[in-house]
Amino acid sequence: MNYDESPEPAIAYSKFPMAIVSNVCAGASGSSVAYYLHQYAAEASIPVNITVFERSSRAGGRTTTVHAYNNPTFPVELGGSIFVEVNRILVDAVRRFNLSTGSASIRTGEGSDPPVLGIWNGERFVLTAKDEMGWWDLAKLLWKYGYAPIKTRNLMKNTVERFLKLYDEKFPWASLSDVVEELGLLAETAVTGKQYLKNNGISDLFANEVVQASTRVNYAQNIGLVHGLVTMICMATDGAIAVNGGNWQIFDNMVRFASEDLRFHTNVTAISRHEDGKYTIRSKNSWFLTETEETFDEVILATPHQFSSVDLSGATTKIPDAIPYVHLHVTLLASPHVLSPGAFSLPSNKQAPAVVLTTLGPDEDYGAHRHGVGKPNFWSISTLRPIINPKTGGSEFLYKIFSPEPVNETFLAHIFGLRTTFTNSSDEYEIKEEDFPWIYPHIWHSYPYTYPRLTFEELRLDEGSEGQGGLWYTGGMDAFASTMETNSLMGRNIAGLIAKKWKEEDDKKR
Ligand SMILES: Cc1cc2nc3c(=O)[nH]c(=O)nc-3n(C[C@H](O)[C@H](O)[C@H](O)COP(=O)(O)OP(=O)(O)OC[C@H]3O[C@@H](n4cnc5c(N)ncnc54)[C@H](O)[C@@H]3O)c2cc1C
Repeated sequence: MNYDESPEPAIAYSKFPMAIVSNVCAGASGSSVAYYLHQYAAEASIPVNITVFERSSRAGGRTTTVHAYNNPTFPVELGGSIFVEVNRILVDAVRRFNLSTGSASIRTGEGSDPPVLGIWNGERFVLTAKDEMGWWDLAKLLWKYGYAPIKTRNLMKNTVERFLKLYDEKFPWASLSDVVEELGLLAETAVTGKQYLKNNGISDLFANEVVQASTRVNYAQNIGLVHGLVTMICMATDGAIAVNGGNWQIFDNMVRFASEDLRFHTNVTAISRHEDGKYTIRSKNSWFLTETEETFDEVILATPHQFSSVDLSGATTKIPDAIPYVHLHVTLLASPHVLSPGAFSLPSNKQAPAVVLTTLGPDEDYGAHRHGVGKPNFWSISTLRPIINPKTGGSEFLYKIFSPEPVNETFLAHIFGLRTTFTNSSDEYEIKEEDFPWIYPHIWHSYPYTYPRLTFEELRLDEGSEGQGGLWYTGGMDAFASTMETNSLMGRNIAGLIAKKWKEEDDKKR
C-alpha cells in the first residue's frame, strides 16, 4: 500500500471489548462507513473488527466502470461519473489513496468551434457553450438571462455553505430530518426546484432553459418535480473531476483498507436481533451456494432497502419506506459517426455540439409528472472522447446516452443521420454492425424521484439493548440528495455516531 496506515487500535489501553461490526454492502455509503469507523475507532483506541458483505463481484455499487471493447485502456463510467471540488470526502480519499484524477470536461480534440455543449428543447438549441461546464459563461448568460445566473450562483453558494455544516458543526447528527431543519435546509427540500427558484426571484426563462437542463442530465427529472436542494446541487459544478480509470477505485480502496473480512458474491438475506441486543446476519454465497449465520454487535445496512431483498422483520419494526426510483437507460456506444446536424435542426454545414443536454419547450409543462422527458425524447447525449477501434484501427467516438426508454435503431439512425439504407419497411432503418461496433445498454434504478420532503428516513433502525449494538441505515440520504459524496457523508456520519457511542461507553468503564 502506498499510503499511510491509520494507527492500529491500541487494544491494551481500551476497556472496550472488540466490537464486531458488519457492514452490509460496499457502495459509496457502505465503503465510507467501514473506512471512517476504522479511523475513528483507531483514534479512540477502540478495537474493532469489520466484516463487509457485498453481493456483487466488486466495490462501488452504482459507481461502476465498464471498458469499451473489453479493453482496459477505454474505461467508461456507467454510473456515478463526476464529483466536484467541494466534495471533501471524495477529494480526501483520492489524495489518501494516491489516485489520479482528470477534468470531467469533454474534449473532442477539435478546438473550441463548434460549441461543445448545447441545450436542446426538441425544436432548437436554446443555449450553446464552448465548454461542457459552461453554465457560467457569464457574458453570454447575462446577455440572455439578465442577472438570473448570478442570483442562482449566489443562491447555490448559500445552500452549499449551510450544507457543509453537516461535515463539522453538526457532525455527527442523529437524525437527518432534524439536522435539515436546524440548518434551514427545509427551505430547499420542502419545495420543488421551480418553486424555490421562483421564491428567490430567478426568472422562469433561466430556470426552464438552463437549471432544468442540469436537473435532467443529473437526475432525469424536471424542476417541477425535484426539490430545491437537488436543484442547487445540480448547479454546483465548479472543479468537476473524475478518477482516471474509474471512480469505483475510491470505494474499493476504502473498503479494502478498513475491513478485516471483505466478502464479495455474498448476498445478505436476513438480519435478526437477539435478546442481548446483538444481531444475526444470514447470508448466501452465490459461488459456493453456502449459507451462513453469524453474530455481530453493530450492523449497517448501506443500500436502498427496497432493492436489497434483506428481511429486516426479525430486527426492527422501522422498515424503511419504499419510494419510487428512476428507471434510467444508460447506453454506451462507440461509433465512427458524429451527431447529425439535421437531427438538431441545424444546417448540414454546421456541426452538432458534442454534448447535448435537453429541456422542455415553452409549450410543455409536465409539472411533477415522472414521465416528463417531453419532445427531446432523451435526457442527454454526451460525446465522451475519441478512441481507436482496436479491431479495425479506425477512428471512433465514445458516446453516452441517458434516456427513459431503451435506445433503438430508429433513434440511433435519427441522431447519427443514418437515414440512407432503408429496409423493406419505409420507417425502419438498417444499421450496419460497423455503424455501432460496440454498444453497451444498461438499466438502473439510478436514484429516487426526489419529490419535496419534510422528513427523511431514520438512520438508526434498532437501538440494540441498553446501549449495546444497533442496526443502522444509510438509505435515507438517497431521497435527500443521491450522489457519491452525500451518500459517503451519510456513511461517515453513521461511523461518527457509532464511534461516539463506543467512546461514551468506554469512558464509563474507565
Ligand atoms: C447513471 C448514474 C449516474 C450517476 N451520476 C453521478 C455523478 O455524476 N456524480 C455523483 O456524485 N453521483 C452520481 N450518481 C449517484 C451515485 O452513483 C450514487 O448516489 C451512489 O453511488 C450510491 O451509493 P450507495 O452506496 O448509497 O448505494 P449503491 O451504490 O447502490 O450501493 C449499494 C451496494 O449494496 C449491494 N447490495 C445490495 N443488496 C445487497 C444484499 N442483500 N447483500 C449484499 N450486498 C447488497 C449492491 O450490490 C451495491 O454494491 C449516479 C448514479 C447513476 C445510476
